[in-house]
Amino acid sequence: MNWLVPRLLIAALAVALGTFVGSWAGNWSSLPMLGELLGAASGVGALVLADALRGHRLIQWLRGSQQGGAPRDSGLWGELGYRIERAIRERDKALAREQGQLQQFLSAIEASPNGVLMLDEHDQIVWCNRVAGDHFSLDPIRDLRQRITNLVRYPAFVSYLQAGQYAEPLLLANARGRATLSVIVRAYGEGMRLVLSLDVTERERAESMRRDFVANVSHEIRTPLTVLTGFIETMSSLPLTEAERKRVLTLMDQQTQRMLSLVSDLLTLATLEGSPRPAPDRWVALDALLLRVGSDGQALSAGRHRIRVQQDTQVELAGIEAELLSAVANLVTNAVRYTPDGGEIEVGWRALGDGGGELSVSDTGPGIAREHLPRLTERFYRVDGSRSRETGGTGLGLSIVKHVVQRHGGELQIQSEPGKGSKFRLLLPAVRVRSRNGEAEVGVEAAMPESGGGD
Ligand code: ADP
Repeated sequence: MNWLVPRLLIAALAVALGTFVGSWAGNWSSLPMLGELLGAASGVGALVLADALRGHRLIQWLRGSQQGGAPRDSGLWGELGYRIERAIRERDKALAREQGQLQQFLSAIEASPNGVLMLDEHDQIVWCNRVAGDHFSLDPIRDLRQRITNLVRYPAFVSYLQAGQYAEPLLLANARGRATLSVIVRAYGEGMRLVLSLDVTERERAESMRRDFVANVSHEIRTPLTVLTGFIETMSSLPLTEAERKRVLTLMDQQTQRMLSLVSDLLTLATLEGSPRPAPDRWVALDALLLRVGSDGQALSAGRHRIRVQQDTQVELAGIEAELLSAVANLVTNAVRYTPDGGEIEVGWRALGDGGGELSVSDTGPGIAREHLPRLTERFYRVDGSRSRETGGTGLGLSIVKHVVQRHGGELQIQSEPGKGSKFRLLLPAVRVRSRNGEAEVGVEAAMPESGGGD
């Protein structure tokens, strides 16, 4: 209101001045009244012209980008410009704040590990994050406003979207190559829909492995149980001679042992999976371990093979003795079981240049064809099922070995060729290897005796 009084004063002054000048001019032409009237009108006209000019400047500024400030006038126009400018600046600030919040919200959805896709009532893509783009092979920018059903053509997805029944998620197998997606749709707003996608490939793979595992275990246990049931029936229904009875009991004992080994290996695997990583500061003497593995191998072979075990390595390994022993013993047992009589088996240690080491078990057995190598450590995978079972194998040995070595930060490598024997290597990292006097083991070669471990 502080502009009103000055403005009224200016208007009054303009009219008074106009009237005075008009009256002075009117005296000259003997028409003082007309002069006064014209003078007052000129005063008002001058005021209107000044207003028109200042109003025009303000409108020009409003029509433009309003980057600079509003025209700095005094009075009514100054106040009007100032108030409009302030309203515009406040609106811009609120808009920027909302924009920022929207960007933050979109960045959060963008960072989500799940795919998020928004569809309008015509199934057109309103927005989608990078993960959804990846899941459905969409371009989050290029494909905006496109109908999703024109771009994602899996029949299961299209009919799920169109059916409108979204209580259960849709499992989209083989989407994006070999992946499996779990798709959830939620309706919101007026006909809008939110499509959420989650990559469940790993979960499905684990679930299918679990199913296979249970089926395999059931099968492995059912076979000896069926055989045992047959023997029990035979013994209870047929009159057997003493020799026959002994033979049947021996066979029953074999089947029982087979089940025991299976259960024991399963328990070992379960323990390995459920226990924490072996401590890096519990040191196990390798020489004692090799000695024990050697004598167990000798006992199993019963003189059918020539077994050489490296001695005097002076090395200690950090880990769990029972696990390391079980890993090497499994390899030696396999070597004895699969190598024909008269073959050679060698258990050795080699220090590696990086401070780590390699424990190896090699044999002159039948070897393994290349196509089987990548699958050997799978549970129950056998190259020759009947040979494995005949010799008391459970199909879990190499799986246990791999687990043990991985838990110790190492790796199992298998080198084999049909007719040329096999070599299984346990590679252990430097942090788990030291010489017996406590020093790290760098590039030291231990001696392999000509004939160690006693043939
Ligand atoms: P299994 O109890 O059947 O021996 P493993 O997991 O120990 O189970 O071994 C998996 C398969 O790898 C075996 O069935 C066998 O076919 C093959 N294999 C393992 N060790 C040897 C070896 N030293 N020589 C030849 N084949 C082997």
